[in-house]
Amino acid sequence: VHIKAGLIWLNGEFVPQEEARVSVLSHALHYGTSVFEGIRAYETPKGPAIFRLDEHVERLFHSAKVLRMEIPFTFDEVKQAIVETVKRNGYKACYIRPLVWMGARTLGVNPLPNNPAEVMVAAWEWGAYLGEEAIKKGAKLITASWARFPAHVMPGKAKAGGNYINSALAKMDALSAGADEALLLDDQGFVAEGSGENIFFVRKGVVYAIEHSVNLMGITRDSVIQIARDLGYEVKEVRATREQLWMADEVFMVGTAAEVTPVSSIDWRPIGTGTAGEITLKIRKAYLEAVTGQRPEYEHWLTYVQ
Ligand code: PMP
Repeated sequence: VHIKAGLIWLNGEFVPQEEARVSVLSHALHYGTSVFEGIRAYETPKGPAIFRLDEHVERLFHSAKVLRMEIPFTFDEVKQAIVETVKRNGYKACYIRPLVWMGARTLGVNPLPNNPAEVMVAAWEWGAYLGEEAIKKGAKLITASWARFPAHVMPGKAKAGGNYINSALAKMDALSAGADEALLLDDQGFVAEGSGENIFFVRKGVVYAIEHSVNLMGITRDSVIQIARDLGYEVKEVRATREQLWMADEVFMVGTAAEVTPVSSIDWRPIGTGTAGEITLKIRKAYLEAVTGQRPEYEHWLTYVQ
């Protein structure tokens, strides 16, 4: 295992990573019936702080509801487990992965009435998701041959394990083709999102966020819209085709793991000057200041780990 997650919170107790085991007959392992979150904690002047914890836990509970999974812990218990996981492992900054999955009681496709949902929270130190190089020079995207699934095929607003087969197929193809990330279109050909990021573009000084349709309702997307407006930019939420991205002055991707990552090319067409865009970098800087507690106006987004 390359991930060093130290102590993992598993169904209410902390266990060392090597002991955090589940049954090979877990329903989730066979059918993808899990929901999860990706959260980051950052070093701030007042100690480690978790970014937008409430919003992430809320999305976890909403995802569980979509899959008709009952999380056997309260909202506050899950929040506390996340805070404790960061604290117990002594991280200054880390990536946090809560996971809820259908356990091992029956292996029919139907997990109900009460295949018990199990819960774990793991955290580890994780740097730039798309690499330092992508941040400096911009990431290379290529349009995936896989479309983001329509809303009546899979519940894309739920952060569900099974949904990520779509992301993993697209991401593998992109990397095999020499790109850094995949751009997924929806089944009508409009821009949906990256394999794990929401997409923004800039044209003539206006910032455009891809509107919510079949993409995940990203928490970073929400934060970036607010930050960009506070920086004085006009922000519009639009439906866009891929050539609108090719013709944009700047394109960037946002996500908890990817933070704010500039895009330098899409489908071998350079975006703008073919490097990280100026507005992108301004927004990136403000975002990183917000998450690291250097902007009092966004401090309400932080949960300090005492
Ligand atoms: N879209 C997908 C498919 C994702 O996996 C993620 C990462 N969770 C995002 C968008 C960005 O969401 P967030 O900003 O909440 O991390």
